[in-house]
Amino acid sequence: MTLFFVCITALLVGSFLNVCIYRIPKNKSIVAPPSSCGSCDTRLGALDLVPVLSYVFSKGMCRHCGAKYSPRYMIVELLNAALWTILYLELGLTVIFVFYAFITSVLVVITFIDFDFKIIPDRLNVSLLVVGIIFNLLLFWFTCAQSTGRFDFIIDGFIGFLIGGLLFLAIAVVTGAMGGGDIKLMAVLGLILGWQSILLITLLSFVIGAVISLILLITKIKGRKDEIPFGPFIALATYITILFGQEIINYYLLTMF
Ligand SMILES: [Zn+2]
Repeated sequence: MTLFFVCITALLVGSFLNVCIYRIPKNKSIVAPPSSCGSCDTRLGALDLVPVLSYVFSKGMCRHCGAKYSPRYMIVELLNAALWTILYLELGLTVIFVFYAFITSVLVVITFIDFDFKIIPDRLNVSLLVVGIIFNLLLFWFTCAQSTGRFDFIIDGFIGFLIGGLLFLAIAVVTGAMGGGDIKLMAVLGLILGWQSILLITLLSFVIGAVISLILLITKIKGRKDEIPFGPFIALATYITILFGQEIINYYLLTMF
């Protein structure tokens, strides 16, 4: 029952993510005006906004002018639902689940915007930063860490911020391949997830990036001169780290020492 509730919420949030992906790169408000057909400008009714089903029943066309909608809208909704479901099965309905689900959804938006425009808008990095800090403070407040006076998370976050930001700044300076958005995203993720996680995210994002770039080059989907955005690799690496980070780090420590 809870899984059903999580899925429905994830689909509705996915529908909102589409609005973000479409409007944030254009610097438009994500709350007003209400969604309308990109072709005939007719305002979409409640029925048109039902995730997935509205797309299936209208056969992916506008009910008023017949303009074709990209199936990507539905893909974003389904993707968000799938990612949330996996998180829920792993974590249950906990505060950490809510926090990770938020990060995941922002990363979905970053992935598609970076893919299309080769940018990671500041608004998205700032939203991660603000929610991340609030979450870490709440966690500190409500756990025994407060009574024992352990401020580890602040040190963890600070070192993570430095590692994430400086490492990618160095890579950007040396290779010229990394954008400002990538550097800011890594600094923010380091701050809110801690230094252990950001090291793993760095490692995984380069492995994933190398493998996928190689596949794109071999299949000639991308040429040697094409710029391949790095944001989606960071996003995927972060999701894997959120889910399996502890297991990977434990396994690594076990085999190394
Ligand atoms: Zn229309």
